[in-house]
Amino acid sequence: MLWGMKSDRRVSRRNALGALAGSVVAVGCGGSNRGEASSGGGATGSGGAAGGGGAAGGGAAGGGGAASGGATSSGGGAGIAGSCKQAPTPGCKITDDNILGPYYKPDAPFRKDITDGKLGSPLTVTGTVYDCDCVTPLAGALVDVWQADDSGAYDNTGFVLRGRVTTDAQGRYEVKTILPGLYLNGSTYRPRHIHYKVSHPAGVALTTQLYFEGDPWIASDAFVKESLIMPLTEVPGPNGQKAYAVTFDVVLA
Ligand code: FE
Repeated sequence: MLWGMKSDRRVSRRNALGALAGSVVAVGCGGSNRGEASSGGGATGSGGAAGGGGAAGGGAAGGGGAASGGATSSGGGAGIAGSCKQAPTPGCKITDDNILGPYYKPDAPFRKDITDGKLGSPLTVTGTVYDCDCVTPLAGALVDVWQADDSGAYDNTGFVLRGRVTTDAQGRYEVKTILPGLYLNGSTYRPRHIHYKVSHPAGVALTTQLYFEGDPWIASDAFVKESLIMPLTEVPGPNGQKAYAVTFDVVLA
């Protein structure tokens, strides 16, 4: 793990991706990424859309914003749907939803590697999709991801850095990509993030985003939810290059 312990997450975040941020060329607002905050692509930084939920299949998390992004996290239990086939484990939380943003494109190709040759820091994303009890893995769940490239731009004409995968018999998925770049949203940069839509017949479809612990832009972003921030691990990359890995488990309502 690159950055500190949970008890010191805020501090460690500043020391973490901050170093990386300096090496990344951030795209200005003149790019094509305006309006992340609003599905209409217009207004920015109002914060009004943060609760969104509409894109998340009815706000399955039950609002609250207290839900965790992982199956193993502790805390409350609010937001558990009543449709679980078995009682949720103690501390079980439905994964929080998050804004859809304006750049979703349906029908992305099914593939594990979404890079299409885009240069950047290699990133492997793995995780497990669970039913609402937080222990039953959901095989065949659809995981649809999209993100900006290293310079902060989305491919809005093709499907570069977009793709869909389905979970295996153990509910696991894997995506090979690069670390998403930064882009301006209003007067501040959105933290690095990967967009997700996750669905399975057994659960309620979820729209959310994955963020990275240590990202210095998290503090000023109106849309980040603490539960969606995951630790980024540095791993050996090809040709001595730095590469990263992150795990993002999803619990569907
Ligand atoms: Fe985005």
